[in-house]
Amino acid sequence: MANTRNIRKALCEIGKLCFDRNLLDSSGGNISIRDEDKVYITPRQAGEHHQWSIEEDMIIVTDMCKVPVIGDSDKITREAICHYYIYHAFPDIRAVLHAHPPYMMTFGSAHMDIPAVSEGTRCVISPKIPITHIEESVPGSEQQAVRIVENFKWRRSRDPEAGLICGIPFHGVFSAAADLNYAYLYVEVAETNCKILINRQIMFGNNPKADFSIHHDISREEISTIAQSKEVCPSGLRYRDAFGNETTYKSSENDRFLSGQQHTGISEDMVSKITYEVLKKIKGN
Ligand SMILES: [Zn+2]
Repeated sequence: MANTRNIRKALCEIGKLCFDRNLLDSSGGNISIRDEDKVYITPRQAGEHHQWSIEEDMIIVTDMCKVPVIGDSDKITREAICHYYIYHAFPDIRAVLHAHPPYMMTFGSAHMDIPAVSEGTRCVISPKIPITHIEESVPGSEQQAVRIVENFKWRRSRDPEAGLICGIPFHGVFSAAADLNYAYLYVEVAETNCKILINRQIMFGNNPKADFSIHHDISREEISTIAQSKEVCPSGLRYRDAFGNETTYKSSENDRFLSGQQHTGISEDMVSKITYEVLKKIKGN
């Protein structure tokens, strides 16, 4: 979703997406992207005055100390201090999102940690630690910014690969990531995770047959195998290929290529000869 070639456009698009998906509301929220020594940040009252239909020229660009390069410093979001504190504490972070997702905020309103009960939350955010909340803080205060940074440092100390996201009781959430897609992803999967927690409590909370325990505690090592390509057939399997020919499956890409050559009766020598003849003809023309 995020268009990294056009940072201001990406901020407007993600803001609208968050509003449409009920992750942001008219009462607030703010988003920023860091691009080397510049920070692109949404204007104040983007929800209250614009229902998150903001224009690209409303995005303010500053240096790392919030000194404006483009736009007026008075128009920068009131929560800006949290964004800049996060960027200064975590040089690898390139995007910060502050949202008001109602299902996550339900847990914040009870000071309850959020355990991971969805594949997305376990793999993308953390299989080891829950999402936690900072102490209640004055919105937009230095105290809130310091507590968010402390929470994120705690997350990394417990799980170096953990997604950076935390709740602010009775207010909302902050997420931070290497790009805006992930800052958005953390909020969306965490919100879905909270919907599942609430739904299962409503549906099964009093059912003695309900088993809320985790039967397989997925590890980081196991998560790292998810994206690996896997063989779907054993090597040596006789089968009919996509062209209806009987053939033998070989597991490596190279073996499969040679198998195809043997099957069609074309040797490597023949391929070289044909290639040579074709190239000669092209050059001749
Ligand atoms: Zn807020």
